[in-house]
Amino acid sequence: MDVRLFNSLSRSIEKLEPIHDREVRMYNCGPTVYGFAHIGNLRSFIVNDMLRRVLEYTGHDVMQVMNITDIDDKMITRANEQGVSIHTLGLEYENFLFADLKSLNVLTPHKIPHATAHVGGMIVMIEKLIREGFAYKTSDGVYFEVAKAKNYGALAHLNMDAETEARVEGTLDKKSARDFALWKFETPDDYGNAYDASFGRGRPGWHIECSEMARDTLGETIDIHTGGVDLIFPHHTNEISQSEAFNGKPFVKIWLHNEFVMVDGQKMSKSLGNHTTLKIITESGFPPLAFRYFVLGAHYRSKLNFTFEALEGAQNALKKLTEHIGEEVGSVNKDYKERFVDFITQDLDIPRALALAWEVAKDASISPADKTATLLDFDRVFGLGLFVRKKETVPNNIKVLTKSREEARENKDWKKSDKIRNEINFLGWRVEDTEKGTKISKLD
Ligand code: AMP
Ligand code: ZN
Repeated sequence: MDVRLFNSLSRSIEKLEPIHDREVRMYNCGPTVYGFAHIGNLRSFIVNDMLRRVLEYTGHDVMQVMNITDIDDKMITRANEQGVSIHTLGLEYENFLFADLKSLNVLTPHKIPHATAHVGGMIVMIEKLIREGFAYKTSDGVYFEVAKAKNYGALAHLNMDAETEARVEGTLDKKSARDFALWKFETPDDYGNAYDASFGRGRPGWHIECSEMARDTLGETIDIHTGGVDLIFPHHTNEISQSEAFNGKPFVKIWLHNEFVMVDGQKMSKSLGNHTTLKIITESGFPPLAFRYFVLGAHYRSKLNFTFEALEGAQNALKKLTEHIGEEVGSVNKDYKERFVDFITQDLDIPRALALAWEVAKDASISPADKTATLLDFDRVFGLGLFVRKKETVPNNIKVLTKSREEARENKDWKKSDKIRNEINFLGWRVEDTEKGTKISKLD
């Protein structure tokens, strides 16, 4: 089955033609692990997951790589504030992120390279770029000379004279304001987070990290590279010029970018302070998968405005859809499946696929068993855990947490009991105190 995707580079929908037969090699720009991911970041990871599921559903083998950026200015500042190493800080937030992703049914990427483990490879790349005249040293680092790149700015459709001049970092002795850092020489503000290199001790710039990790894990030319639209410029634009200068080959066939989660018309971001985390969502009584449903309801190239009312709508819809899953599983309805495949392979039209699932659910001409089979088949792409949600045996860890909460309540330690309740909610369960004792049920 062919899959068509919108390529930000050509600005058109193209047929995916994997370089290695049916194997699709995909690189996802991952998180910088200096704090909790917000739900905008999580949308981007859900989109990656949905893309992987569509590819697998349509018979492809996927090699999915998501990097972890564990060295940069924000990591160093935050680690220093907390008196820990960047590794400790990174591990802590990486663990939180993977807990979020697990609760959102996001499949674990096959490879998760860390920037700090790839500095050696980045140094090799920078050495070659200097040797071949693409990069040069200044007083504070090594810079990529944009004028030497072929088609610089093609991805972002930049007007090279005006746009880039205005938007770049600068040091005094760069050849051009547009040139960007491959390497930053060590300063006292780095607190020792520096590496020896033939061109001078320091640390890598952000863009070279992804060029190196993509090359090392997937090869010189990859099928799909993803990220949020904010990464088109400068991050992905700069990745292309470094990688293509180094490899002498096209870097990526299809660039896929997701739009933002918005709040009151503004991009959700940590710096604007308008961000919500999955923890806040679950503490407000919503199961993580209601958020996944909310994300699937909008096309990945549309902005998605977040409100708790909309999340509640998603929660109700998910609950109702689950009610159509019965114990008996019949056969998948061929006509519906055909339409489903048409939607998901046409630039991942998941909102229409979801609407189709509702058509299935409401179609009185299909037997309940066939409905169940068809919806469960679709759920291989949706990842809403429709089947799992039907089985409601309380897992042991929830039982243990409930017991500890009861003990905390007996000791009138309300703070502790609230904390445990939040933890139980986070894991997708609810505890209620009734006259007959504690009742445990699945959040839906
Ligand atoms: P970061 O941890 O900031 O590097 O971001 C991780 C991913 O989240 C990147 O692909 C970003 O483009 C994406 N991203 C950041 N903010 C948003 C947002 N408000 N909505 C959707 N995606 C976002
Ligand atoms: Zn990246």
